[in-house]
Amino acid sequence: MADADCIFCKILAHDLPGEFLWEEDETVAFMDINPWTRGHALVIPRNHSTDLLEISGADLAATAAGAQRLARIQKERLGCDGVNLLNACGAAAWQTVFHFHIHSIPRYVNDPLQLPIRPQQASPDELAEVAAELRG
Ligand code: AMP
Ligand code: ZN
Repeated sequence: MADADCIFCKILAHDLPGEFLWEEDETVAFMDINPWTRGHALVIPRNHSTDLLEISGADLAATAAGAQRLARIQKERLGCDGVNLLNACGAAAWQTVFHFHIHSIPRYVNDPLQLPIRPQQASPDELAEVAAELRG
């Protein structure tokens, strides 16, 4: 279940330090070492799986429930104004640690985070074309 080269498996096993919020049978939550905002934390399944495409449905469900719990804790205890949940799947999507995790990032009115893109509205034809491809 554990991957010998995975830093999150090492944190789970207490072979590397972690600032834990909980350590339970299915999931563990701990502080992100490079927080985007005050209180930024991660929730991970105990079982090692590299990413969203590989994780089992049961581990995904447990980790998603953990992310909701974390968001509620951040709201209650830190008084944040909102929360972003983030999962990066694959290096192209900015994943840097290949043990599935969900970031729970507290947001505060006037915090410095900005969207990295300005989305442009697509035409109905473009949407229809890609939707047809997705439907298969
Ligand atoms: P991602 O880029 O989505 O794969 O996220 C990996 C996250 O893990 C980053 O936000 C890192 O700051 C965080 N991280 C890396 N090493 C550690 C560590 N030893 N303890 C806590 N967080 C870590
Ligand atoms: Zn791992």
